[in-house]
Amino acid sequence: MSIEDFFKCFQISCQGASCITTFADFLCSKIAPALRHAIYEKTALDIARDVKDKIPDFRGNRSTLEYYMLKYLAEEEKFEKFTFYLKAPRLFLNNHIKKKVETYCLDKNRRLEMFLRDSLSRYSENIQSAVFASTTVVKDRKDRKDQISLWLDEFCRVLGDVLSLPRSDLKGIEHQEITDVEFLNNAMTKALSPVMYDLRKEFEEARMSSFERQPHTIVAEQFAGCQEQCPFCGAVCTNTMPNHDGDHRVIFHRPQVLRGLIWYEIRGSKCHKTDNLITDICSSLVSSDCTFVVAEDTWIPYKKYRDAGHPYSTWSIPPDPSMQAYWKWFVSSFRTQLEQCYNGKFHGRGEIPASWHTVTKQNALAELEKC
Ligand SMILES: [Zn+2]
Ligand SMILES: [Zn+2]
Repeated sequence: MSIEDFFKCFQISCQGASCITTFADFLCSKIAPALRHAIYEKTALDIARDVKDKIPDFRGNRSTLEYYMLKYLAEEEKFEKFTFYLKAPRLFLNNHIKKKVETYCLDKNRRLEMFLRDSLSRYSENIQSAVFASTTVVKDRKDRKDQISLWLDEFCRVLGDVLSLPRSDLKGIEHQEITDVEFLNNAMTKALSPVMYDLRKEFEEARMSSFERQPHTIVAEQFAGCQEQCPFCGAVCTNTMPNHDGDHRVIFHRPQVLRGLIWYEIRGSKCHKTDNLITDICSSLVSSDCTFVVAEDTWIPYKKYRDAGHPYSTWSIPPDPSMQAYWKWFVSSFRTQLEQCYNGKFHGRGEIPASWHTVTKQNALAELEKC
């Protein structure tokens, strides 16, 4: 028979010290799951706050994080990682945050356990002071017959801010005839001790999967922002608000080959696909006389790119020839892989400018860092 059933069956017959112990055990059996839940919730927030301060990637805004991701990619120098970043920027960002947070929590310093234990100590103090406060209130009310009910009211009220412990769940024990309310202090401390011990044991083995709400998700939410990508080059809109008003925009557009775009040739009334990859950036092309193809035999001058309809019409791309050194370095370093990946060639109109080959990784990163 569970303690709860016990109380249901013998609601009036219990008295004396053993009654207080059983009361305390029952109450702690209700506290335990609420406490565990609260600790993980609180710890997730603590970790999210701490990494914002301790991990350089998260110290600034999304452009700071963007810089660290590009730096990471350049250091790794793996084409597959670049393609993942370019094709699924949101997923890449979330994975990057997840990896960073997990390493921080689970490396040799075992910070995760430390965070959980810290939360546990704070909650333990809260519970102890709620016990003390409730006892203090009740012991001056010797006139009241429903002392335990009063004690529970106070206990749930004091703890209510930190733990979800509905008073209604404790109806089964509110009619106990406990006369020595002060003895409850000791009984509660005793009954709480195995609960604390079990949690401490659990925390030694804790994994990130123990969290219902993962710390990295909380961090990722802070870097959410607009996720729209330029329909030409794939650069992600830099607006920090999702579903923002006005046009999408980015500070720097990228060579369109990063999304595998290829030049078309218009002969007569037909357009023919060439094998020339596009190394130009969108913000240069919008001031050129070039056109782009939106569907078979439908082409639009770049100068009137908005006429191509959604999503083009939702972007503001002012003419600007500046291109980041980073992408010059990337294109010239990974030219073979890009040619294979997009089944095109860097020749004809897609010739890589000679100056790009002289850009080193160091130059590229130094320029990014300044921005
Ligand atoms: Zn673009
Ligand atoms: Zn946007």
